[in-house]
This record gives sequence, structure tokens and C-alpha cells, in this order.
Amino acid sequence: MFRLIAVALSLTLASIYSAAAQEPTSVHVPLPRSKPFKNAEELRQQNSNASGLFSEKKLPTLGQAMAIGYYPSGCLQGGVELPITGPTWQVMRVSRNRNWGHPELVNFLERFAPIAAKATGWQGILIGDMAQPRGGPLPFGHKSHQIGLDVDIWFMPMPDRVLSKQERDNASAINLVAANGKDVNRENWSAADVAFIRTAAEQPEVERVLVNAAIKKELCRVESKDDKSWMAKVRPWYGHADHIHVRLKCPVDSPNCRAQPSVPPGDGCDKSLNQWFAEWILRLIIPDSAGSAKGLRLKDLPPACAAVLNAPAPRNHDENGHVR
Ligand SMILES: [Zn+2]
Repeated sequence: MFRLIAVALSLTLASIYSAAAQEPTSVHVPLPRSKPFKNAEELRQQNSNASGLFSEKKLPTLGQAMAIGYYPSGCLQGGVELPITGPTWQVMRVSRNRNWGHPELVNFLERFAPIAAKATGWQGILIGDMAQPRGGPLPFGHKSHQIGLDVDIWFMPMPDRVLSKQERDNASAINLVAANGKDVNRENWSAADVAFIRTAAEQPEVERVLVNAAIKKELCRVESKDDKSWMAKVRPWYGHADHIHVRLKCPVDSPNCRAQPSVPPGDGCDKSLNQWFAEWILRLIIPDSAGSAKGLRLKDLPPACAAVLNAPAPRNHDENGHVR
């Protein structure tokens, strides 16, 4: 009995002492916040649709160029604009204001356009969507194209005249895939298309070139077996019947750019290609909403993208976003 009382007393004393020891800290020292404080406006923005926020920005940010995040989840600091008309290129769909990118993308296109023209015998190339001035999710058309390193280039030679804004908004690229989805359309397909894709994939800064599976299949058929190092970069993907999608590697100046896993070894002409021709895949109708990043909220992007969204624009731009 005495022992029980002694144990009970010591437990009581211990709890009193420990409560006394803890009390000053719990009363006077506030716990650190687990997250930085956000005011109501910041919270509202974080929960808002990111494609809406980024598509409203008509101008890039000041500051050093940086691709931030991942191709389908990120943004672009210090974006630069590709001039809409060059000696060997013209930008299509100019009213979308998506001719922006990391300077490496703009430099790549200015370098690639004359090389592609020479390889294909075309006057030049027609450039589709790049990124918005500050990158970010697009309200329609793509899941990626968010960090200024993706570009669509049309399967169509540039005409030998400067297209009007209206023509650029209304023209359509050439569909190179047959109606059954299994082969290229022989009426439109030519050796120039092979040269075009090959020239893009051969550029060292290019990470991947996405094309329709029927186009990949045709490349596997016609390309020589002993020189296929570039073929590994040409990957099959949904759509992409009237354009190639060129994706550049993360630039060295962008430590927060997340690299895509390397392409698998081999030329990609193995049986993995067959899955693209399964009947259910060919019948797949991909809704417009699946081809966009509309569901992303600002808080789904890397935290730095909120700073990019709210950063000041350079002063030397006019109200249309063009450098004065
Ligand atoms: Zn694309």
C-alpha cells in the first residue's frame, strides 16, 4: 500500500513539474507557422484557374529568363517574343499571342528555320503555338507549352509572300495522316516531310519531336537502318497529324526546370509502336477539354509561378506587348 501511494505521489509530482516546465513556452512563445501567412487576395489568386490568370497577361516579366517547373505544369520568367515574320518563317494564329518563349526557344527557331528550309526545299516554315508571354497553362489547345520550351511547327511550306493577319488566323495545316489513322496520306506525304522531321530531331538542343503514330510508322519504314540515332527522339503521340511538336531540353540557366525522363534506347520502331494502332486507340475521340490544362489552379504550379504572374512587365513594351 505504501509503495502504491509513493508511486502515485511521484507521478503527480512529475506531472506538476513537467506542466510547470512547459507552461511558459506554451503561453509566451507562439508556434512557428507551418505555412507563410497569405492574405485574402493571395489566397483567392492561389485558388483561381491558372490558365485564366496567365492568359490575361499580355506582357512578359522583367528579369533573367528562366523556365520554371515541368512542360505541363509551370511558367516562364523573362520570356521573349519571336518576330512574327522572318526571312524563313512566319508565325500563324498571331491573335493568340502565343509566340513567346525562353530565349533558347526563340534562338532555336531562328537558327532552325533556314536549316529546315534548305533541307526541305521549302521557302520557310510556319510556326504555330509556342507559349504565352509568361508561360503557364493555356485555356485551350495544349496541356504542355507552359515553360517556353515547346513549339508546334506545321507540315506546310511557307508561301513565298507575307501572309496577312487574317490568313494566319484562318489557314489550316496539311493533315498527313490517312482517314483510317493507320498510315500516312500518300497524296500529301512527301520526302520533304521526312527531311523536315529529321532536321528537327537532329538539333542538339531538341529533347523530343512528337508526331502522329502513323507518321512514326512511316519513318520506321523508309529510314535507313544504320543511321537512326535521331529516330529515338521522334515519339508517337495523339493528334500531331498536321504539325510536329518540338520540345527543347531544360536550359542551363533554369535550375527549376524539371527535365523529362530520357527517351528509351532504340529507334522506337519496335513492337511498342503497335499499341498506337489498337482499334480502341484509333477510335478514341479526345475531347477538347482533355487537350488543355484548364483544370490547374495557381497553387498546382510551382510557388515561383505566383511571383512570375505578379511581377512587373518591362517598360519598353507597348500596350500590345511588342518591344518599342
Ligand atoms: Zn504542341
